[in-house]
Amino acid sequence: MDRRKFIKSTLATAALAATIRPGIAKANTGKKISITNPYAKVDWDKFGQYKANLHCHTIMSDGHACVNDMAKVYKDAGFSILAISDHDCVIKEKRPKELLEATCLDKNCISFITWPWCDFGGKSPRTHGLTGIEACELTTKHHMNSYFNGYSLGANVKNNYGYTEDQQLDEVQRRGGLSIVNHPGIQASWNQEKSLQWYVDLFKDHPADCLVGMEITNRVSEEWDGFDISLWDQLLAEFSPGRPVWGFGNDDAHSHNHAKFTFNVFYFDICSQANVRQAMLDGQFTFCDASRKVDYTKEKIEDGMFPYINSIKVDEKAQTITIDAKDYEQLRWITAPKSSKPIGDFLTSKQPWELGQVVGDAKTISYNSPAVKNYLRAELIHKDGKESYRTFVNPFGVEKI
Ligand SMILES: [Zn+2]
Ligand SMILES: [Zn+2]
Repeated sequence: MDRRKFIKSTLATAALAATIRPGIAKANTGKKISITNPYAKVDWDKFGQYKANLHCHTIMSDGHACVNDMAKVYKDAGFSILAISDHDCVIKEKRPKELLEATCLDKNCISFITWPWCDFGGKSPRTHGLTGIEACELTTKHHMNSYFNGYSLGANVKNNYGYTEDQQLDEVQRRGGLSIVNHPGIQASWNQEKSLQWYVDLFKDHPADCLVGMEITNRVSEEWDGFDISLWDQLLAEFSPGRPVWGFGNDDAHSHNHAKFTFNVFYFDICSQANVRQAMLDGQFTFCDASRKVDYTKEKIEDGMFPYINSIKVDEKAQTITIDAKDYEQLRWITAPKSSKPIGDFLTSKQPWELGQVVGDAKTISYNSPAVKNYLRAELIHKDGKESYRTFVNPFGVEKI
């Protein structure tokens, strides 16, 4: 690894660990257990819960709806936060003429980021009653979403295909932006799969205050879920508790009437861009995923559909984590996989790596248990006929000193 990057990454990880301030408690075994809690700042009695889609497309790249239609259906479906993340390398002039004419397209604009929305035929997010997030899908190599920083390869994209993922992430970091790795399973379904080591190197080389995590559920059909979830468990096994890898659920909608039914739920007092940014750094959100698609023009997210989190609390004295939730039948606490050895060829397998081990099914778990390795995450499941609805809780780092 590039030594400069390693030092940069190590320093950033150390700085992040310092800001999280893990609670340290004395365990029954005599060992000290340090736990990093992504929800430590949440006041469960006072904070609101805000649904967010952090990845979708409009006719400004290869989507089928304009900015206003996209914003309206998400607002009507119950969302508070929307990031329109058009592809940086899909040239707008390629769009069908009638679609282009339906927008206030500025043909001289060299930015390929659909932001601010009012420059692209849309009303402001505030007018829609949404918190809008500046975003772009960096698309020329492994897809990655970039947020809050104005970077896209944009114009002359043909000349820009030579930029590596590392160079793109370095630029996002230089501009103070955040980024996530998008849909590894989709890359695999396109025969553009990467090895576990490739992802390990990416998360090692780019600090947690820029590359904050990865998509776990996205528009790809369920058959590829195992690819993304097993990759997440392997990365958490590699990096926890020092370097967080937060999981995101984004529908990657290209049309508002045929989206994967998946989204994030943020927890904070005021729904603002600054709070979304900080929560993305801290992992202060959960994400939900259904086994089916949704037409947001006809359906919104109803109460009782997805497992609903009332609170997630750590008791440092008892060394337990408790999830108080409703609308679920099954809860699974998951820790590191038994092995990092591949169980399939990543070039052909839909689940090349072991999933994390299930170590509990009650609402409270003791993180001092010998079965608990270097992280704990949770999944809550609600079944409705043949469909399943899941809520994923972001990982707690566990360090036995
Ligand atoms: Zn993509
Ligand atoms: Zn996309």
